[in-house]
Amino acid sequence: MIHFETKNGELLPIADLFVSLQGEGFNTGKPVFFVRLGGCNVRCSWCDTKESWDGTSFPLLSVTDLYKKIADSGQKRVVITGGEPALYNLGPICNILKDGGIERFMETSGTSPIRGDFEWIALSPKRHMPPLKENLERASELKVVITSPEDFSWAEENRKYVNEGCKLYLQPEWGAREEILSRIHNYLLSNPEWRLSVQLHKYLNIK
Ligand code: SF4
Repeated sequence: MIHFETKNGELLPIADLFVSLQGEGFNTGKPVFFVRLGGCNVRCSWCDTKESWDGTSFPLLSVTDLYKKIADSGQKRVVITGGEPALYNLGPICNILKDGGIERFMETSGTSPIRGDFEWIALSPKRHMPPLKENLERASELKVVITSPEDFSWAEENRKYVNEGCKLYLQPEWGAREEILSRIHNYLLSNPEWRLSVQLHKYLNIK
């Protein structure tokens, strides 16, 4: 959990700030300003941002200064990701972004209560640390990473709790994509409510 003072979300640990294209899920291809927060208690074995796990190793930035960087970029859409961003109160940064007319997206495992006014919440449930039901009900998008055939039933288990409008995605884990893609393909053909998400940024070799 959090071992440092974030002043209830007025300060946030910044692991990375960059502009790129959203590479996954429903918003794939949209230009966004990424705010990668440090700190994650979920610890997935296949995590591709392990350097972000220790939140104490990153500088704290005030939401005012963070907003200024985002506004200066000229981007009108922000993705707050991690790490696990739901560890923090994201109400203050959401409020200031909303006042500035900037769209607010979030990527989360859903394991901690989500605080903040988001227009899009992409929830990626982890089998070893399941998401809170209240977060599943709030998700705009359920994106299940498929690492093995057992993950299809895990995807369906989570689907039971999402809202009616929630978009459903299956995404091959990057390291297992060669073996698992054909299984996902077959699954989608007989379960057409689901869509395929691939990590476009990795195929394009961009951040
Ligand atoms: Fe990595 Fe995300 Fe899993 Fe945390 S929840 S370990 S950041 S993949």
